[in-house]
Amino acid sequence: MELVCLDVEGVLIPEIWIAFAERTGIAEFRRTTRDEPDYDKLMRYRLTLLERHGLRLPDIEAVIASMTPLPGAKAFLDALRERYQVILLSDTFQEFARPLMRQLGWPTLFCHSLEVDETGRVVNYRLRLPNQKQEAVHHLKALNFRVVAAGDSYNDTTMLGEAHAGILFRAPENVVREFPQFPHVTDYAALRTLIDESFARLRESAR
Ligand SMILES: [Mg+2]
Repeated sequence: MELVCLDVEGVLIPEIWIAFAERTGIAEFRRTTRDEPDYDKLMRYRLTLLERHGLRLPDIEAVIASMTPLPGAKAFLDALRERYQVILLSDTFQEFARPLMRQLGWPTLFCHSLEVDETGRVVNYRLRLPNQKQEAVHHLKALNFRVVAAGDSYNDTTMLGEAHAGILFRAPENVVREFPQFPHVTDYAALRTLIDESFARLRESAR
């Protein structure tokens, strides 16, 4: 069985927090792991900001619902799912991803979740599992899947390394430079070609 694992933000949808900052006009939401490498600190900061601006989950969902997947993402994903099993692996949160997953036809998504109180206030976040992308691929391989993975950033590189074949998609220059073992493509047609070729090679070497 052949299975494709895809990162989500930067591959199928825009970076949620960046888009969120743009839609709300609250520039502080632009802060990312590049500015604050301590993820827990960064999330606490974001939760404080949501609180300060009185943004509850329904408001956040409304903002995110006004975003759209990247041009061509839906067609790429639909065609890919006709041929392969596909699982999206993301470090975003279920609640944030929902409005965009609706537009992508509800693909299977493994990510994290938020803790929301009865008034819709986001009070905490829950990581499903540390290093979940690599762990997922590792266990899918144990289930006897051949796995090809694609992603755009640092947090994808362990997943790409774990997969039978890993591909960088629209990655920043520094990531492309630091990980020359992964081929890099920038459009969906080239990504699909590379996925097909990777599986063809794996089939060949398994004979
Ligand atoms: Mg990404």
